Parts: sequence; structure tokens; C-alpha cells
Amino acid sequence: MIPELIAQARKIVIKIGSNTLADQEGKINLGFLEEFAGQVAAFIKGGKQIVIVSSGAQVAGLSTLGKWVRKQDIHYKQALCAVGQVELMGAWLRGFAPYSLHIGQILLTRDDFGDSIRTLNMRNTLFTLADEGIVPIINENDTVGVEEIKIGDNDTLAAQSAVLWSADLLILFSDIDGLYNKNPKEHPDAELVREVRNLGEIRNTISAGGVNSFGTGGIATKLDAAEQAVRYGIPMILAHGGRSRTLEALAAGTQPGTVFLG
Ligand code: ADP
Repeated sequence: MIPELIAQARKIVIKIGSNTLADQEGKINLGFLEEFAGQVAAFIKGGKQIVIVSSGAQVAGLSTLGKWVRKQDIHYKQALCAVGQVELMGAWLRGFAPYSLHIGQILLTRDDFGDSIRTLNMRNTLFTLADEGIVPIINENDTVGVEEIKIGDNDTLAAQSAVLWSADLLILFSDIDGLYNKNPKEHPDAELVREVRNLGEIRNTISAGGVNSFGTGGIATKLDAAEQAVRYGIPMILAHGGRSRTLEALAAGTQPGTVFLG
């Protein structure tokens, strides 16, 4: 199922979570990023268009400044993101450079999605970038978003972007192989759910455990993202981003994942 979905999709939105982008020490995982850029380049060469939704600005800001003071202070967090966003994009720029691919940064807030003129502009910019062979990299604009007006997690942002761009497929990369019947980090006997055709039903049958260190949304926001995407006929795959050559492995059917179809 997963190889077919990827083979058939021309326009793919890929979201990479903080847990995948950061290494054990909380620094941007450059090895992952370079390997991932290579796989995206191969997809683009093969005729696909890719939009990346990249988390990790706060983690990058933290490791750049080397300290986290005033943890509860929203403005300090925003300042960290402002620093980290530059680092993050610098890392993506270097990652794609060997493949002669340009990147374009798009920072969005929740309000942007509620305004028809802005959504039209965003849509046109995404279309133009992708048509020009440039890789758009989307993140939430943390500088202007305080808690109340934030989209809040990049899973939702990725789903909204997929709908806006009329993508054929949405892939969320996290640090787990997919949706389990219970949190695999807490329950070693948790079982992977390979296909979801009824989200309402699955919400009642699985249990969603806590979120780990860098992640923001946990599994709940991934289910919300799936709901938004499938409502517009866009299938979603949830898979582990940290495996070796993960995009290629998914396309080849050698890596598991959860497919959401309805
Ligand atoms: P990311 O930063 O990749 O978006 P999150 O930490 O926000 O990741 O969410 C993924 C985490 O959700 C997993 O690491 C896992 O511990 C947790 N989780 C809780 N319940 C489940 C479940 N039923 N199936 C899969 N993961 C779950």
C-alpha cells in the first residue's frame, strides 16, 4: 500500500518532527538532514514535487545559544525560535546545496489560513516555488504567534499546507513507526496499526500516551492532521524518520508505517 501511494503521488508534503531533526544532545541532526535532502533530490529528479514542513527552530535555538533561561517566558521561547530558525534554514540550505537545489522559506501563522487573500497568496507562492524546482520549507512563524493564536504544532500546519497546495500525499515523520494501539515508548508490547480507514473508530480503540522531550503534539495532533487531510481526499502516512534512507525505504516497501485513508 505505502509504495503504491508514494509511486502514484506527484505532490508530496513531508513533515519532520523535532524528535527526528534533533540528535541525542538536542542539536540539529546534520547527518539525517543531508541524507534526507539527497532522497528528496532523487524524488524531484524523478518528477515529484516536495514541500517540507520542518520543526526544530526552538531546539536549534537552544543548542546555538547553549542555554535555556526563563523557561516559562513565551518571549524567550520566541527569541530562541528566531535564532534557531536561521540555523535550521542554514542546515537545510547546506543539505540541498550538493544537489543544486534551492530552498524557499515560508513562515505561517494560524491567522494566515483564515484569510482568503493570504491563503491565495500562500497557495500561489507554493505552486510557483515547486514549479520552479525549488523546495519550499514551511514552519510556524513563532515570532508573531503567542500561545492563543498559534497553530500550535506542525502536524496541523502540515495538514493545512497539504490541503492548501492540493497535495496528493502527506507524510509525517516522527520517532515511531506509526500509530500503535498504545504508546510504544511506555508499552513494549504495543502493536502497530498499519491501516486506518475509520479515524473515529480508531480514536476509541487506541490509547494516546504522553509526549516526549522535544515533541509538541504527541499522537493526538497526528490523528487530527490525518482527519484534516483525508477529509480532502489526501492520504496520510505516519512513519519513523530516523531509519536509514527512510523515504526510499518507504517507497520500496521495506519500512513499515501507518496509512490513513479515512
Ligand atoms: P514529533 O516531534 O515527531 O511530532 P511527538 O513527540 O509530538 O513527535 O509525538 C510522537 C510521540 O507520540 C511518540 O514518540 C510516542 O511516544 C507518542 N505516542 C503516544 N501514544 C502513541 C500511540 N498510540 N502510537 C504512537 N505513538 C504514541
